[in-house]
Amino acid sequence: MELYAKRLFDLGSENAFKMGAHITAVELQGKNVIKLNLGEPDFNIPDCMKAEIKHQIDLNNTHYCNPKGLLTLREAISRQIYATRGLTVSPDRIVVFPGAKPSIGFSQAVYCNPNDEIIYPSPGFPIYESFIHYVGAIPKPIHLKESAGFSLLPEQLANAITPKTKLIFLNFPSNPTGGVATPEQLQALSQVILNKCNEHTRVYSDEIYEHITFDGTRHHSIASLPGMEERTIISSGFSKTFAWTGGRVGYAILPSIDEANMFTNLNINYFSCVPPYNQEAARVGLEYEDAQAKVKEMVGIFQRRRDLMLKALGEIPGLTTQKPSGAFYLFPNIENASEKLGVLQAFEQLPEAMKTKTSPSTLFQMFALYYHGVAIMDRRSFCKLGSETEHYIRISCAAEDSVLIEGAKRLKNAFEDNTGFRQFIRGKGPWY
Ligand code: PMP
Repeated sequence: MELYAKRLFDLGSENAFKMGAHITAVELQGKNVIKLNLGEPDFNIPDCMKAEIKHQIDLNNTHYCNPKGLLTLREAISRQIYATRGLTVSPDRIVVFPGAKPSIGFSQAVYCNPNDEIIYPSPGFPIYESFIHYVGAIPKPIHLKESAGFSLLPEQLANAITPKTKLIFLNFPSNPTGGVATPEQLQALSQVILNKCNEHTRVYSDEIYEHITFDGTRHHSIASLPGMEERTIISSGFSKTFAWTGGRVGYAILPSIDEANMFTNLNINYFSCVPPYNQEAARVGLEYEDAQAKVKEMVGIFQRRRDLMLKALGEIPGLTTQKPSGAFYLFPNIENASEKLGVLQAFEQLPEAMKTKTSPSTLFQMFALYYHGVAIMDRRSFCKLGSETEHYIRISCAAEDSVLIEGAKRLKNAFEDNTGFRQFIRGKGPWY
């Protein structure tokens, strides 16, 4: 008898959480690490939200509550969805979760039988892919091309859809590319979905970065388009907008009350409910102008940092970086720079068994951290199936200007350090 159930080995993970252990290992050697790996804003929640959490605790609002989410919060979300997407959503269709993440795996559990197909963008948020084998479904990544500005093209979607397609993940603004879809792009994607999909196919629209857009670009939801509300799950939350990753409040809007009740039952089975004092603070975030002003200020800073970092990365020979319209990441192509450093060749010479566990951008990621004290994420961390020949890294702009500049300097040094890289490879890792 084995200790672990077989299905456990089909579950992937989110490497961003695993980087912490590597960073600690480097820090324990007495080195300082510039952390550009983080997927969380380096700001604090607005004061009015902090005050509300404390107030609610003083009121002893610390007990079990509605597993679907407090009605006060769901009503506030419903008003916000009307204001931002023009949709009238009954609070009965809204379910609150501990963060935006749980509804990703829950959607796969709710809608997918074994051998159903799940389409998702790659590069994309890793949890779309990591659950698929766990629920016995079949992954169908759509590889976004840099030459198309990392947009998901309607023809790519049309080619990926089959009669077995059950779930389609979309993510705008996107992690890790920062891509924001225009209304025309969403219109074209919706036409493909309406023409080719069964009425029971669901679109999971991950809109968690909805408020972090730049240069006057605005977020649009595919759910606002004709025929799409009844097949789209809108997912969003409070982790990014309000710099509140530790609050664990997110939500999804389901196409029907019945579907919302299915998700609520999963909540009951896993979490019972989300802390009510945090839910009241989330409501305050949606309702108070002070909170909105804080968000605007943060977005302005992210835009300025994006420009600063684009300029700094532009000074690294062989790197090309597209200008993102949203989120707070940069996603440079490191192919030429990696070639010059000998990363691609070193990868080719690894034993076959090792090659399946790492990638050229992972080798660079580990080299940059252990030898040059700068933490970034590799391409493989953003949905790995079929990503072997893609050479990118994700750099987070969730750090102060001086830290960003120092990070870019360390990356430049790393790309120029051929001797150090040979040593790293000879020293046998860590490589993943
Ligand atoms: N979706 C995307 C695209 C994300 O980037 C993240 C967080 N990195 C999540 C969902 C999960 O957010 P939360 O912390 O609210 O669970």
